[in-house]
Amino acid sequence: MNTPGIPDYADERAAKFFRRVFIGKNPGNKADENGYLMSWDSRHEDLEASKTHGSNYCAYCGNRPYPIQPSSRGYDVTGHMCICADAINEVEINRSIEKLKNEHISEIHKLKMSKPKACDDVKRKILESHISRDSYYLDKMLKSVL
Ligand SMILES: [Zn+2]
Repeated sequence: MNTPGIPDYADERAAKFFRRVFIGKNPGNKADENGYLMSWDSRHEDLEASKTHGSNYCAYCGNRPYPIQPSSRGYDVTGHMCICADAINEVEINRSIEKLKNEHISEIHKLKMSKPKACDDVKRKILESHISRDSYYLDKMLKSVL
């Protein structure tokens, strides 16, 4: 990418994590010809922590990852994400794994719900047969005692 404010090592999928901010056309600043600079959007909803060495360097490219902040206002940093291709691949793969897990859980739930239900008529017939058999033996025992 060759956009003011976005580093050269950034993957093109990282563009959505930057906002266009007007800073004016002052000589020496990094703004484009219209006075705009791309600025990191630390509260973008698709941000997710990528693998780092410590929390200071990307495990894939060695550049400094960008901070992630919660959508609510405040200064908390909840993690760091790099914008190189491998870091974005990692985040997308993690997201796919999570999606597959949820679909898997949902499919298992659907299968469990589609299992045949125990039949109350069968249960009643089983109980009736036990009762009649037990009463036959009870009668027999009573007759032998009396
Ligand atoms: Zn990286």
